[in-house]
Amino acid sequence: METLLNSNITNIIKLSTKQRVVNTFKTSGVFLSLAIASIAVPLLHFILVPLFIGMALYFGIKTYECDILISVHQNCQSCEKPLDSNYLSNNQNYVFRCKNCLAKNEVKK
Ligand SMILES: [Zn+2]
Repeated sequence: METLLNSNITNIIKLSTKQRVVNTFKTSGVFLSLAIASIAVPLLHFILVPLFIGMALYFGIKTYECDILISVHQNCQSCEKPLDSNYLSNNQNYVFRCKNCLAKNEVKK
């Protein structure tokens, strides 16, 4: 784990491979749990189980590609709501999306 940028409003941490694998299992685990739970749903399980397995693979790969963790304490540049949270990103421009309005935000330096 390597700190790339550290200011009083933003902290950017480079994730190790182990942390990326843990994040991948957390994300995939949610969808695999939904796939297992949907086995009990009559008829719909023919659609739901493959759907959730596919989503587990897709979002698992997306999560593994995220190699930096951005902790921000600033307001969204679009909706002005506070962004006091952690965001995973794989973008070297340190761009992440607001959880409220999905607008792209850049880290203020
Ligand atoms: Zn926003």
